[in-house]
Amino acid sequence: HFYGQSPPVYPSPNMTGTGLWADASSKARDMVGKMTLAEKISLTSGVNSNTSCSGFTPSIPRLNFTGLCLSDAGNGLRATDFVSSWPSGIHVGASWNKALAFQRGAGMGGEFRTKGVNVLLGPVVGPAGRVVLSGRNWEGFSIDPYLAGSLVSETVSAIQGVGVITSTKHYIGNEQESYRSPFGDTEAVSANIDDRTMHELYLWPFQDAVHAGSGNIMCSYNRVNNSYGCANSKTLNGLLKTELGFQGFVVSDWGAQHAGVATTLGGMDMAMPGAGVYWGEHLKSSVQNGTVPETRIDDMAMRIIAPWYQMGQDQGFPTPGIGMASDLTKPHKIVDARNSSFRSTLFDGAVEGHVLVKNIRNALPLNSPKLMSIYGYSAKNPDQNTPTSGSSSWTFGAESYSWSEFFAGFFTGSAAGDIPIAFNGTIYSGGGSGATSQSLAVSPFDAIVQQAYDDGTALFWDFTTDSPGVNPMSDACFVFGNAFATEGIDRPSTHDTYTDGLVKHVADRCNNTIVVLHNAGIRLVDQFVDHPNVTALIFAHLPGEASGKALVSLLYGKSNPSGKLPYTVARNESDYVGLGPDLPEGEFAKFPQSNFTEGVLVDYRHFDAKNITPRYEFGFGLSYTTFNYSNLSVQKTVANSSSSSSAALFDQYPTGAVLEGGQADLWDVLVEVAADVGNTGAVDGAEVAQLYVGVPKKGEAPVRQLRGFEKPFINATQTATVRFALTRRDLSVWDTVAQRWSLLRGEYTIEVGGSSRDLPLVGKVTI
Ligand code: BGC
Repeated sequence: HFYGQSPPVYPSPNMTGTGLWADASSKARDMVGKMTLAEKISLTSGVNSNTSCSGFTPSIPRLNFTGLCLSDAGNGLRATDFVSSWPSGIHVGASWNKALAFQRGAGMGGEFRTKGVNVLLGPVVGPAGRVVLSGRNWEGFSIDPYLAGSLVSETVSAIQGVGVITSTKHYIGNEQESYRSPFGDTEAVSANIDDRTMHELYLWPFQDAVHAGSGNIMCSYNRVNNSYGCANSKTLNGLLKTELGFQGFVVSDWGAQHAGVATTLGGMDMAMPGAGVYWGEHLKSSVQNGTVPETRIDDMAMRIIAPWYQMGQDQGFPTPGIGMASDLTKPHKIVDARNSSFRSTLFDGAVEGHVLVKNIRNALPLNSPKLMSIYGYSAKNPDQNTPTSGSSSWTFGAESYSWSEFFAGFFTGSAAGDIPIAFNGTIYSGGGSGATSQSLAVSPFDAIVQQAYDDGTALFWDFTTDSPGVNPMSDACFVFGNAFATEGIDRPSTHDTYTDGLVKHVADRCNNTIVVLHNAGIRLVDQFVDHPNVTALIFAHLPGEASGKALVSLLYGKSNPSGKLPYTVARNESDYVGLGPDLPEGEFAKFPQSNFTEGVLVDYRHFDAKNITPRYEFGFGLSYTTFNYSNLSVQKTVANSSSSSSAALFDQYPTGAVLEGGQADLWDVLVEVAADVGNTGAVDGAEVAQLYVGVPKKGEAPVRQLRGFEKPFINATQTATVRFALTRRDLSVWDTVAQRWSLLRGEYTIEVGGSSRDLPLVGKVTI
């Protein structure tokens, strides 16, 4: 088949009830067997409800099916009260901490459960981040599929561990907001992705999510190889339901259904927010007139009911939408979903996603400052924390703005083409359906004032002018800026003139200028970062409600920075491949095409291939201590039984049965790696040790790809051993002819160190 064309894959595979799904699938079969056609069809689309759930399916009381509340999103429950704002996806990515990602999932999932949300509309692994300016990159963890895959796996396991179904989204190729949906007579953009790139990059983290048991997948707005994401038989029937053995249901993104029978047969199982003009009665007619076999409807129903059983929602689950009052300005029942045992997770999560990238002349941690000056619109809380009602209101930070206000240019930078900044105050998340609705949030300034009060530090501040007066006696001057992003629109650039100018203005007058940027995506800093008086720079990302508390803990050295960049910061925008979205042009003006011609060479894979020096490389981040790497060991796994099983272990292709996530032996460990990490400095701290693999196919494959990371906390002068287990999948490339993961013969390079460009340990292993 040709590039940009999606091959047909029919019929839509039935759920098999394989592996861990056996029990839930047989219960679902029983229940669905008792349903009428109308009842089965009622499961497949949303109805209005008297709640603020983003989507709602009706109950079937005679069968004790309660219906489902589906709600946004992956960083905390939106559009309600008494919930927490968790660190956003990009912040979790910057933490590189699997255990913490799990705890966050458990804490967040618990809040959804208490509010009667059956399906959490997250986590996000698409967009992956191919388009640097995409408005939603901050919702996901990282452009790197291995990092995103590891963290989504923890997140799905944790959320579903408390009985809430995850809707891993947006499947697939939803890499830009521009033309994500049809507009007038123009179709949605088509993400044209070749088979190998699809598997090695974009599908990879979805595979991890399915492997972790994600009960739901959301198909995306865009087209994929010119077929709509929710009618694409190749991606839904083929990749997801056959190759990855997905057992759950596929829900449309809201309004992403653009056909009736084509979506039914293409593998979509639920239409949101409602049946619209395609399903409902029409779905029924399509069965009655023989266009759609009723077995397909049975499978849709099975796939929707089985996850409900799989998560135990048939027993003791709160009434769907119980805590989701539709109008928060009217008296309503209070359901406080916050759980005090997760306060430390909110705090640790906020701390660990801060990435310190510059720290000269011992600027940080602060050392009993006498006078500090604080500048920038982003230091304080916005002026309001308005209750939100329903989904027409898109919250972010502590504020709530309507969609139209956003497009009316509420957030504009100071100059044309600038990145939007939230001028009204600090941000805790980005905007759109992934925004959070915190009950309370601590801004950087709130926390600094508290600390300064305790210490007797004098403070000057000015949050409103672009050329504030600066007291030259300041021990430190802070400049707070942000880089906003939201669903629905791509960012125009990676920096803004106002903030850059403010930093330079302060740095010209204060010889210890510390810059803190809350960035919902990549933010370039070459306009100011080499200014000799800019002594420290922190990418503070989107920490959620504990933002200020976490920052102060880092600034004063009570916490030691341990975040690392989950993306590459370039010196120039032109250094990136795929900086901006693709727009309609030429003969495809009505059918916009986005050709992923760079293949797998995105982010650091591209910088490595083209030998471009980044400003701050993927995986980079400073600590208040130093680490030393030694004693690399690389061992092939010894098969513990017969030699025949050892041969199978290193066979070129996997032979295992398809369970959730694909062939089971893709997860066999083939190589074990260990290394020592020593804390050679004076303070305790955590280090993200990273492992990169170079496969034998030199020249065709990326120079190196992340295939392991561990984050030990190491006391000063102590050493920890980190261990990595490389699976068959980690070492394979996608073979487009065999349609299998292929383990190459030859010499693999194994590199271990503290960033993608600081890899002191190098080993080899031959397969
Ligand atoms: C977004 C989804 C979201 C849904 C429901 C859509 O516009 O793309 O991420 O879950 O709305 O609010």
